[in-house]
Amino acid sequence: MIREDKPHEECGVFGIFLRKKANVAKSIYYGLNALQHRGQESAGMAVCDTYGEKGNINAYKGMGLVSEVFHEDTIRALPGNIGIGHVRYSTTGGSSIENAQPFFLKYLKGTLALVHNGNIRNAGEIKKEREEAGYAFQGSSDTEAVAARMIRERLSSDTIEEAVIKVAGKLKGGYAMIVMSPKKLVGIRDPLGLKPMCIGKVEDGYVLASESAALDAVGAEFLRDIKPGEVVIITEDSFKSELPFTRECRAHCIFEYIYFARLDSRIDGIEVYEARIKGGESLARRYPAAADIVTGVPESGITAAVGFSRQSGIPFQTVFHKNSYIGRTFIKPSQEEREEAVAQKLNIIKSVVRDKRIVLIDDSIVRGTTIRKLIEMLKSAGATEVHVRISSPPFRYPCYYGTDIPSGNQLIADNYSKEELKDMIGADSLEYMEIKDLHDMVGDLQVCKACFNGDYPD
Ligand code: SF4
Repeated sequence: MIREDKPHEECGVFGIFLRKKANVAKSIYYGLNALQHRGQESAGMAVCDTYGEKGNINAYKGMGLVSEVFHEDTIRALPGNIGIGHVRYSTTGGSSIENAQPFFLKYLKGTLALVHNGNIRNAGEIKKEREEAGYAFQGSSDTEAVAARMIRERLSSDTIEEAVIKVAGKLKGGYAMIVMSPKKLVGIRDPLGLKPMCIGKVEDGYVLASESAALDAVGAEFLRDIKPGEVVIITEDSFKSELPFTRECRAHCIFEYIYFARLDSRIDGIEVYEARIKGGESLARRYPAAADIVTGVPESGITAAVGFSRQSGIPFQTVFHKNSYIGRTFIKPSQEEREEAVAQKLNIIKSVVRDKRIVLIDDSIVRGTTIRKLIEMLKSAGATEVHVRISSPPFRYPCYYGTDIPSGNQLIADNYSKEELKDMIGADSLEYMEIKDLHDMVGDLQVCKACFNGDYPD
């Protein structure tokens, strides 16, 4: 809802290879639009025509939403049947055009473009090594360091996939990456499976994307998730898969299911919608409340609220009207401005809440600004009690895998007890999902919970 008061996913990636003369830029545009929730600061794409001038990759990127960066003429100026795209929210490196992706590099053997979602924990070492070798970095992101290293490996490798595998063997962290050469699309996912990526089939080709919702957006049939540690190589006449980095241990990011991913996506065999419903049901079992209605903070709390309602038998009601026409603000808002923004974006349907005891569900609390304002609005509209239930455990630790979870004094759960926080936000009761209950959402899928328990997978 108020995205400034939520953790942010870093990026979304998309790639497409059509084995015929075609223009894929429009499909990339639709795919990136479907991934817009994963990053709103910059967008870009690189496209190549394998039937045209050999090795001619064209790229375009800019700051802003996909629809702000790309227009009919920019899309027309990117002809080709193979391409990659990216949406970005910056965590490492600043929010600037130099760090927008795809990274596009020319070298002795040709050209290469790369998009990446995640965070390379040892990017500093890779960057230092490349700087010592005389490489001048334009931006400050870890992706550029990886691209520069890939170029070096490519010079001593027979194929681009060989270079990708050599570099990936040195990386620590979470990543889903797509590398494009003029003849190939190579997708790779980190061995722990922290970052999602799936593959779909279209007539005459394949599509790679961070989420299955982006496959749907281009009419691709979902084939499967890319396996953790898997490398897929798509060429004019073949589709190959290699598993150079198999690991017993998996650590899929649980926050994809709680908040990041789109409700209509399916990740690692689990429907995001079902996971959120189950999260709400689990909360209702663990922390029931005596109330007249259940509702959710739009939009991310709504599905868990439906689950809470199903389990508890308390009816779900729509309580908030959302004004979808409020524009984005690019200036970092002050506390007061954030609270004003909540009231601007959401209004209460007073006849629904008057004289009612309400269970209010949200997926997380970062600063507490949004929930406090909403409770104040509910009570001034006549609600008699507001019981807050959060469908994730409290954030206590930073994420090192490419998610922007604020730390220190910005994390309200780190600074106050649950009782203090309940009073600060003006709730009548406050409960979070227990860490041990997260598996009610995802069954026996091995997941990363490090931002809740500090247990970092490596
Ligand atoms: S630390 Fe949290 S946000 Fe980061 S990958 Fe793990 S579960 Fe996801």
